[in-house]
Amino acid sequence: MAESFGLTVRAQPLGSQQDSNFLLTEPAGSVAGVLKIANPAFTAAEIEAQDAAAERAAAAGLRAGTVLHGPVTVPAGGGPVDGSMALARVLRYLPGGTLAGAERYLSPRVVAGLGTVAGQLSLALRPFTHPGLDRVLQWDLRHALRVVTTLAGHVRDEGLRARVTSAAEAAWNRVEPLAGRLPWQTVHGDVTDDNVVCRLERGLRTPDGIIDFGDLTSSWAVGELAVAITSVLRHAGAEPCSVLPAVRAFGELRPLSAEEAAVLWPLVVLRAAVLVVSGEQQAAIDGVNDYVTGALEHERRLFERAMSVPAEVMTGLILAELGLGGGPRPPGSGPVPDLRPVDLAPVDLGRCAVLDLSVQSGAADEGAWLEPGLEDRLAAGLLAQGYDAVATRFGEARLTASAMLAGVSPAAVATGIDLWTAGQVELPAGLTVRRDGDRVHVSLPTEGGPEVPPLVRPEYAAGWLSLVADPGPLLGLPAAVPAGRDDLLRRREASFAAVQEHYYRDPPRIERGWRHHLAATDGRVYLDMVNNVTVLGHAHPRVEAAVARQLRRLNTNSRFNYASVVEFSERLAGLLPDPLDTVFLVNSGSEAVDLALRLALVATGHQDVVAVREAYHGWTYASDAVSTSTADNPNALSTRPLWVHVVDAPNSYRGRYRGTGADTESVRYSGDAVRAIGELAASGRPPAAFLAEPYYGNAGGMPLPDGYLAAVYAEVRRHGGLAVADEVQVGYGRLGRWFWGFEQQGVVPDVVTVAKAMGNGYPLGAVVTSRAIAARYRDAGYFFSSTGGSPVSSVVGLAVLDVIRDEGLQANAARVGSHLKARLEELAVRHQLIGAVHGSGLYLGVEFVRDRGTLEPATEETAAICDRMLELGVIIQPTSDRMCVLKIKPPLCLDVAGADFFADALDRVLTEGW
Ligand code: PMP
Repeated sequence: MAESFGLTVRAQPLGSQQDSNFLLTEPAGSVAGVLKIANPAFTAAEIEAQDAAAERAAAAGLRAGTVLHGPVTVPAGGGPVDGSMALARVLRYLPGGTLAGAERYLSPRVVAGLGTVAGQLSLALRPFTHPGLDRVLQWDLRHALRVVTTLAGHVRDEGLRARVTSAAEAAWNRVEPLAGRLPWQTVHGDVTDDNVVCRLERGLRTPDGIIDFGDLTSSWAVGELAVAITSVLRHAGAEPCSVLPAVRAFGELRPLSAEEAAVLWPLVVLRAAVLVVSGEQQAAIDGVNDYVTGALEHERRLFERAMSVPAEVMTGLILAELGLGGGPRPPGSGPVPDLRPVDLAPVDLGRCAVLDLSVQSGAADEGAWLEPGLEDRLAAGLLAQGYDAVATRFGEARLTASAMLAGVSPAAVATGIDLWTAGQVELPAGLTVRRDGDRVHVSLPTEGGPEVPPLVRPEYAAGWLSLVADPGPLLGLPAAVPAGRDDLLRRREASFAAVQEHYYRDPPRIERGWRHHLAATDGRVYLDMVNNVTVLGHAHPRVEAAVARQLRRLNTNSRFNYASVVEFSERLAGLLPDPLDTVFLVNSGSEAVDLALRLALVATGHQDVVAVREAYHGWTYASDAVSTSTADNPNALSTRPLWVHVVDAPNSYRGRYRGTGADTESVRYSGDAVRAIGELAASGRPPAAFLAEPYYGNAGGMPLPDGYLAAVYAEVRRHGGLAVADEVQVGYGRLGRWFWGFEQQGVVPDVVTVAKAMGNGYPLGAVVTSRAIAARYRDAGYFFSSTGGSPVSSVVGLAVLDVIRDEGLQANAARVGSHLKARLEELAVRHQLIGAVHGSGLYLGVEFVRDRGTLEPATEETAAICDRMLELGVIIQPTSDRMCVLKIKPPLCLDVAGADFFADALDRVLTEGW
């Protein structure tokens, strides 16, 4: 190295298929570059072209392996003995790593990044020409069919060989007619997971660079994208639709023509076929070892995935993704492939009822969608009512076809119409008709196209529906309204303020809940690990019945004298220890906290309040003033009014004092808080209240240090102040072992705020205190809340308490919660990212850290994990000021199967990546 390049470095071999590569390190340890000794098969002109292309890529803003030193001529691998010489140069080293590793999951964000790199490169290389590009390469997709037929003999498995050959031929038949219209240019030719490098930023990889220009050639421009997206299919969890973010990102930079979009998937199939036969050829040369077998396995998987959805479907999907068409087609309309010519006369079915099987359908209420045979029963019922026929809707996502606890979306979107008829009906010839018991499935697919299943998965619906027409008009039914892109989010944004956030960047549209499940309009059903408000589970029939019954009779305000408000107040007070016997009913947690603070100010005559850091208590003026969480409000600490004083968050995992148990530092939190309260009092401002969650919910469900509330409550009371426990989030049985969070601390507060779970989603809140404290409120005027404690609110409150009791939900929270916590603790043994598992019952927190020593919060990873969990059918969100804790607070009806589904999905995400 010293002789050729004047460098004093250490060279360490790096694996490479065609060249010899070495990582060069300087004596001080820093990386000096990569020594690349080109395969002697490369001419000097080819190498010059590769290096010039790398310069182009770098000039376009990509990180690229450009030349630092050289080239110089050196003896090739065989040495001077065989006399052959090779070109050596030192290339820039790009830190950050590549996307390689088939067992790793590539997120839609990363896949889009891959498409962006391919698009940037395509634009950068478009004007580039060089004599060194004039060569014939095995990897050039223009020669793909020839490569496959030539090398197919190396494929030892006969079945696979036949499949690869016929797939390549079929794909070629799609490409060939359009080949003349495909734009050409210089392409890198190998923009794959192995060659795209990433910058690693705050725990997430973003593709931003490219190495290895060894396959540089002049070919179809769209081939650059085809090669890139084929490499996605190798990765864990990938399927054909996983490539769409890359297609969109590429298309945004370098728009695809309709012809390019039409050949894209066939080119993916050809690339996959080339990879299989080339891998087998290499195995024949190198002999089969473990490494080769593993690589072959991945190529085969990639090929099978490319073939798992018909090319026509993928083409329809790609066209729809690019805004170039797609979606259902009118009968008899072009272009290629055409639908069957329709000279069919519509039939008259007579009086026909349309069966709504969508997520919104009333027929699905109360979990009816889970009953087997529901569709047939509903149809029979309608026929019995005198209809001549019953028809389902074309293109509808059916809830009846959905499954709970499913890691992938269900085949739920109808590609035809199902019919039940009272008598014999002569259907128009030309329709595809399949009989299934009493029902007839009718569809109108493309002539000569692939067989279209009656139901398809929503991700592929745009592709499948582009191959069929709506048979409705031939049956005398109105044409289905094309679904189009759902613009609900845009409308929401137009009528909401930006400050009103929503979960997920691209959220599913949820229109139904049932128990601990949520159903989206595309038929996907998610496990709900977030809805703590819906403590009984979604759409509980007893709550619905209580509300409906009461609305039919009376709903008014609590100045009237009626039984339910009294019964509910008695029940609520009865759940609390003495002397907490007096109830104020309001509509939310914020109102409850606001009222609790007013009570404290009035009852004590003091002006100040002490709250803990990293807490959330509500949005009203007073409850916001004591909300110190910077996750909810980044200015929370700098904008405190003067009457609010904060003490440290008693976080025993990552706070100032750590450890759990009596002999740990964390007991010092109470000493600090006691001192702060004492100092306030000494300065002439004794606090009216000390307010905190009695179990630290906002930090992800952490118990307060032992004895914390006993000490702090005693001190605040010593100075005439009140102890306020905010049970809005952790109370009402969620903690399993305790109904109220303060029980865990062995204390009794002076004022308790309750909300969320009280109404199972109906707006209900309460403040419960002692008669003596409540009596002082009289001095400050009067209290009235129009809907607080209304007859409907009161019966809801009673129904919720009845169900919690009758269904044993607190005990269920304890049982399922401890099972789930044990599963999560087991995951923590295997996955370094889990720093701790907090919580009790069904209020659990999984805290993610980048380093178990420094506890650096894994904030971005947590957000990405939540996105990946959604893909796997789980709704979960982050919490804490660092947003690095999965907050697990599902409806309390969660069962062991649901808990296991969650833990398995999390295990998978932590294993495969996010
Ligand atoms: N207190 C706590 C502890 C809470 O978690 C919340 C809500 N997240 C509130 C009060 C405010 O309740 P609401 O949203 O019903 O106003």
